[in-house]
Amino acid sequence: MTRCVALLSGGLDSMLAIRIMQTQGIEVEALNFKTMFTCCQDTSAQAARALGTNITVIGQEDDYLDLIRDPQYGYGKGANPCVDCRIYMFERAYKLMEAVDAEFIISGEVVGQRPMSQKRSDLNIISTNSGLEDLLLRPLSAKLLPPTKPEREGLVDREKLYGFQGRSRKGLIQLARDFGFTEDMIPTPSTGCALTEPEFGNKVHDLIQIQIDDKRWDYEALNVGRHFRFNECVKVIVGRNEKENTQLEYMHRMEDATSTSLLEPIGFKGPNALITGPSTDEALEYAAGLVYRYSSSIEGEDNMVQVVQSDREFKLTAYPTERAETEKTIATVNLRATH
Ligand code: SF4
Repeated sequence: MTRCVALLSGGLDSMLAIRIMQTQGIEVEALNFKTMFTCCQDTSAQAARALGTNITVIGQEDDYLDLIRDPQYGYGKGANPCVDCRIYMFERAYKLMEAVDAEFIISGEVVGQRPMSQKRSDLNIISTNSGLEDLLLRPLSAKLLPPTKPEREGLVDREKLYGFQGRSRKGLIQLARDFGFTEDMIPTPSTGCALTEPEFGNKVHDLIQIQIDDKRWDYEALNVGRHFRFNECVKVIVGRNEKENTQLEYMHRMEDATSTSLLEPIGFKGPNALITGPSTDEALEYAAGLVYRYSSSIEGEDNMVQVVQSDREFKLTAYPTERAETEKTIATVNLRATH
């Protein structure tokens, strides 16, 4: 039986691409690529179950961050290096294809659907630079693209492929219904990737452009709290709710985060704050000022915070400082990559 590997994000397009192959009697092995910025593993597992395919989930390796820092093909609206990221994913899909003895790879890409990564020229770049060349088939837009090897060799019937292009989902939804997808199998469109969000992207660009020695931990920390840049080595992260306050405590305890200080309010209601980088007196004063700014009930002299460091604990007075009172979060600073 002919077998292919399919990139499955959990979105409608990749589900349809798989179903098109299944209707031609081709066995599909699904692959979900997970990064620290994506959120859709549940969705992709559900989609695989609904389609009756095996699914393999693989995570990014550390070299993925190099691609975020300096993508060859630039960023989208946020800090999403989609073309480079797709090349990275397909390189891994190629390895799975060989491991499971599959003949080719499919994806749900549609010509012209996304401004970044699905222009016709981008699709060519992705096929070529991933090493897949004409082993990469896009069933939803295949009729607009040159025949791939599995089509030429008769493993796939090109006549039963499609010629979708552009952003409209109407035809895709109709196709899903024709295939018997129930309404709950048709997900709402979303990239599921925080890198595409402009505000999150600003935090990433801040790290790339300003922070000296940014490391994996710094990127993982972007998912939590309000971020304030103190200087090129130091940031302060302020919890926005109980859950994030707890997450900041956890991050502080993590082994590779020994260069952090945790500030917790004593005797008043307020957020936790985490200083990342060297905690100078000035940085501590600034962070305590931010705790004061976001506190909900400071009365009288109860404005103390507990500072927890890897080797000591002490108390500090939190009071309003001009900078802490007026500072904007990184998410509202207009930082942009120059690519
Ligand atoms: S949206 Fe995110 S996960 Fe998807 S290709 Fe772009 S950078 Fe990669």
